[in-house]
Amino acid sequence: MSYDANNIFAKILRGELPAVKVYEDDDAIAFMDIMPQAPGHTLVVPRAPSRNLLDAAPETLSRVMPLVQKLARAVRTAFAADGVTIMQFNEAAGGQTVYHLHFHVIPRHDGVPLSKHAGGMEKAEVLEAHAAKIRAALAS
Ligand code: AMP
Repeated sequence: MSYDANNIFAKILRGELPAVKVYEDDDAIAFMDIMPQAPGHTLVVPRAPSRNLLDAAPETLSRVMPLVQKLARAVRTAFAADGVTIMQFNEAAGGQTVYHLHFHVIPRHDGVPLSKHAGGMEKAEVLEAHAAKIRAALAS
C-alpha cells in the first residue's frame, strides 16, 4: 500500500483543512481529535509522509516520540488525569481509518472507560476549550 497525499491529515498539514491545533514545530503538529474518545483526546502527526508505523522512516519515529511524550505530559496536567493512553493503529485490520501516521494521546481517569473509536463528533467550542487547557499546560 502506498502513501496517498490526499488523506485528511496531509490536507491539515498543508493548511487545506482546518484543525484545532495545540502544538506545532518543524517535525510534527498536534491537534484535537474531532471524535474524541475522552475529553482532551489529541493526535500527534509527524509532517514526514508515511501511511503508518509500518512504512515510517526510523528518523520520523525518533523525532516524533519526544513530542508524543510532551503532549502526554501536557494532557495529564491539563485534565488532571490519572493516566494517559497512547494508541496507534496500522492498516484497516489494525483499526486505522486515516492513512497518515499519527499517535492518539488520551488523558484517562480511574474507572472511566474510553468512548468508541471514531464515534461521535464533538462540538467545535468544546474542542477549542480543551485545546486552550492543553496549550496552557504546554506553556507552563
Ligand atoms: P485512526 O486512523 O483509526 O488511528 O484514527 C483517526 C482519528 O482521526 C479518529 O480518532 C478520528 O476521530 C480522527 N479524525 C478524523 N478526521 C479528523 C479531522 N478532520 N480532524 C481531527 N481528527 C480527525
